[in-house]
This record gives sequence, structure tokens and C-alpha cells, in this order.
Amino acid sequence: MRDRLGRVIQYLRVSVGDRCDLRCIYCRAGAPALAPKREVLSFEEIVALVRVAREFGVRRVRLTGGEPLLRRDIVRLVSLLRERCDLEDLSLTTNGTKLLLLAEELKRAGLDRVNVSLDSLRPERYRAVTRGGDLAEVLAGIERAREVGLSPVKINTVVMRGVNDDEVTDLARFALKRGFVLRFIELMPIGEAVRDGFWRRTFVAAGEIRRIIDRELPLSPDAETEGGGPARYFRAEGLPGKVGFIASITRPFCTGCNRLRVTATGELRPCLAHDAGIPVRDALRRGDLEAVRNAFVVAIVGKPPGHRWHEAPTRTGMDELGG
Ligand code: SAM
Repeated sequence: MRDRLGRVIQYLRVSVGDRCDLRCIYCRAGAPALAPKREVLSFEEIVALVRVAREFGVRRVRLTGGEPLLRRDIVRLVSLLRERCDLEDLSLTTNGTKLLLLAEELKRAGLDRVNVSLDSLRPERYRAVTRGGDLAEVLAGIERAREVGLSPVKINTVVMRGVNDDEVTDLARFALKRGFVLRFIELMPIGEAVRDGFWRRTFVAAGEIRRIIDRELPLSPDAETEGGGPARYFRAEGLPGKVGFIASITRPFCTGCNRLRVTATGELRPCLAHDAGIPVRDALRRGDLEAVRNAFVVAIVGKPPGHRWHEAPTRTGMDELGG
């Protein structure tokens, strides 16, 4: 279905729980205020919801959280979605701490691919950014994901000035050499990132990141850029991987946004930048699919045109991404 701006909604991000075993310094996931278990959607409710989303044209589903691999029996949810929802693409975003253990089962259950969040390749720094994470565990998980064919393995890196901006070339080289797709993500002014002026102090524009990498590893636009998603991809000569940039602030992609989200407690959210949501959990519990369909119509019709983050004072790097 198209929204009022003609955007075709095809993609649903489903949060399967708000617990996380890391507490990244900028993220709201893993914050202590957790929803009681009874308020979290069951697997059957998630499947019913995705089947309704399918009627509205959703073909691609991404599981997220919190940390989705902490949800008990997550592999069973993957099989249920695979068997009952006729999806073109079923993926999952993870911090990678449980990936070594679960990658193979997830693949067997029908997961297509994973995105792994990784903000540093230096063990001490990784531990500090995630407040306790073990880098070796995540790197082993990433390798395992590749071995079992959860590909392409994408790595998401949020860049912050004074935190990890001196590492962007190392991160790019790591991905380019090993054949991963690494996306540098501009820090968004949400969650913990807005606390105490952190976002204003640490925001780095994608254009700046690209320029730093270009000095040592000349990048050229990737001709066969996949997906029409928010990232713009680049390659370096002779190396198998790709780097991408998700410039949500300096080059917002709201006009091409094709996604809806659903929170762990069953609120349908049309936009990441707006907290307003339409509750669907009670309707799912009553088996009232007509009410769930109505909620989709309300969410799609009411999808905001976009965020206004780029109107914030940090305007460095606007339109610099090039290529
Ligand atoms: N636990 C999983 C993980 O670590 O990937 C899934 C949930 S996590 C909230 C999803 C992604 O959102 C991560 O890649 C994280 O870095 C990113 N993220 C969280 N807060 C952000 C912010 N303020 N700006 C940009 N990205 C953010």
C-alpha cells in the first residue's frame, strides 16, 4: 500500500523484546525500564501481525530489539515466520554476542541474513562503548554468520567524534578486505544520544567519514548498489567488501522510506523519529484481525513526511557524501 506521499510500504521492523545484554553509550535499548513479559507480543501474535502486514504489501521483515537473540526460542520464531508468512527477505539486527552459538540454527530455520552492530575493533574501546561487551565474542559471531551463509553479513557502525572517529579507516579496511558490507551510520538524536549534549558534541557527518577513508583507501561508488535502501555504497579497488553510509541527518532518506515498525509490546509506529504509535496488541489477543488491518491503514495514512533532525544546528557535511 502507498502512503499519502506515494511511498510504498514494503518493510516491517519487528522488535521482539526490549532486553539487551549490552548498554551502548548512545542507545536506549537495554535501558532498565523493561516491559513486563505479559505485555510483550507472543510468537503467535507476531506471526498474525506479519501476515496482516503481508496483505498490505510488506515483503521484508527484520527482527530487532533490544537484542533479538536474547528472546527465548528466537529460532522458533524465525521458522514460524519463514513457514507461514511468505516473505522475500527475513533478516535480523543483532549485537552479535550470541551469534556464534545461534547462527547455524538461525540459518537452518530460514533466516536470510544478519546485520551486526560493531562500533570498534579495539577490545578496550569496544568494552567501553558497549559498557561491558567482549569484542572477540562478536568477531567470532560475525565469522560464523558468514560461514553458515547468512549473507551478505552487514556490519553497522555508529561513528562518534572523540569516541571512534579515529578508527573509521581501520573499520573500512577490515570490511573491505574480508568481504563484509560495513555501513557507517550517523548518530541520530534519539535515546541516550541526546543526554547532556552528547549528540551535539559527537555527531560526525557521513561526508566527513568518507573523506577520512578516501585519503588512504580511495572509494568509488558501487555500480550495483542493492536494494534502494537508505545506504549509499562504495568499493575500493581490488577488495571484495563494500562500505556504505547511512546519512540520516545530512542526507535524510524520509522521502524514500518504505518501512513501518512494531514495538515489542505491539505498537505500530510509522516513523522512527516520532513516538506516536497505534496499539495492536489487544486486537491481536482478541483475534480481531479487522482491527489490526485498520491499525495498518491508520499507520500508513498517518506516516509523517519525515524527521526534522537536519534542522538542528549541526549542519556540517550536508550534501558532501557525493558519488
Ligand atoms: N541489539 C541489536 C543491535 O545491537 O544491533 C538491535 C537493536 S539496536 C537498537 C539497532 C541499531 O540501532 C544498532 O546498530 C545501534 O547502533 C543503532 N542505534 C541505536 N541508537 C542509535 C542512535 N542514537 N543513532 C544511530 N544509531 C543508533
